[in-house]
Amino acid sequence: QVKRAGRHDFRFFTAAMQQRAARHLQLVNALRYAVERDQLRVVYQPQVSLKSGRVVGAEALLRWSTPELGAVSPVEFIPAAEESGLIIPIGEWVLRQAVRQARVWLDAGLPPLVMAVNLSAIQFRSADLPSRVAQILYEEGLPPEYLELELTEGVALQDPQGAINTMTQLHDRGIRMSIDDFGTGFSSLSHLKKFKVYKLKIDQSFVRDISTDAEDKAIVSAIINMARSLGLTTIAEGVETVEQLDFLREQLCDEIQGYHFSKPLLPEAFRALLEKE
Ligand code: C2E
Ligand code: MG
Ligand code: MG
Ligand code: MG
Repeated sequence: QVKRAGRHDFRFFTAAMQQRAARHLQLVNALRYAVERDQLRVVYQPQVSLKSGRVVGAEALLRWSTPELGAVSPVEFIPAAEESGLIIPIGEWVLRQAVRQARVWLDAGLPPLVMAVNLSAIQFRSADLPSRVAQILYEEGLPPEYLELELTEGVALQDPQGAINTMTQLHDRGIRMSIDDFGTGFSSLSHLKKFKVYKLKIDQSFVRDISTDAEDKAIVSAIINMARSLGLTTIAEGVETVEQLDFLREQLCDEIQGYHFSKPLLPEAFRALLEKE
C-alpha cells in the first residue's frame, strides 16, 4: 500500500516537475532577448514621508511582456533570470534606467527623490558590483546619495563576511542600502549595525492585517522601535487602507509605500503626480 502511494506520488511529482521545467525553459529562452526586443519597462512606485506627506522616494519595479507570453509577473521571471544568470545583464539594465530617470527628474526641477532599485543576491555577490554601480552613477551623472539599493536578508546567508565587505564598499561610495521584505528572513539583529544599512522595509505580509491582528501589530511596532533605537529609517510596504496608515503613523513609522497612495506608475504618470504636489 505504501509502495503504491509512493509510486503514485512519484509520477505526480514528475509531471509537475516537467511542467515547471518546461515553463522555466520557455521563460529563460524568451528572457534572453527581452532587452534587445524592447520588452522590458520600469515602473516607479512613490514612497511617502508620513511626517511631511510628501513623496521622498521611488521604487523601480521591472515589468516584462512579450507578444507570445503576455505580461509575466516579476515574481515568476526574476527567479528564472536568477537561475539562468540573466539577472546580471537585466539587473544592470534596470539600474541604468532607474538612475537615468532620477537624473531626468532632477534636471526637470522636480523635488529631489531617492531612487530605490531592487538588487538580486546574485548581483550582490558579483565581485565588481560596487565599482559597476559607481560607474553607472558616474556615466549617468547622478550623485550617489540619490540611489538606494534594496537587498533581501538572504544576501548575508551564505557569506556574512563577504556581505559586510560589499556593503562597506557601497557605503564608502555614498550609496544607501535598505533591507527589503524585512522580518521574513530571520536575519540576526546584531548584523544590522555591521551591515551599514540605512532603512528597513517592513514586509507587506506583516502590514496586511495590521488593523485586526494583534500579533502583526506587535511585530510591526517592535520593528519600528528597534529601528529607531538603531538609528534606521522605516518604511512599510503594501499599505492599502487608511486603517493601516493610521496605525503606522501612531507607531511613528517614517514612510509608507502602497496602493493606498499609488500603484507603481510609468514615468510620465509619476512625473504628473510630482508636479501636482
Ligand atoms: P518587492 O521589491 O518587495 O516589491 C514590492 C511589490 O509589492 C511589488 O510587486 C509592488 O508592485 C507590490 N505592491 C506595492 N504596493 C502594494 C500594495 O499596496 N498591495 C499589494 N498587494 N502589493 C503592492 P511586483 O512589482 O510584482 O514585484 C514583485 C517582486 O519582484 C519585488 O518585490 C522584487 O522582489 C521583485 N522585483 C521587481 N522588480 C525587480 C528588479 O528590477 N530586480 C530584482 N532583482 N527584483 C525585482
Ligand atoms: Mg523592493
Ligand atoms: Mg518588499
Ligand atoms: Mg518581495
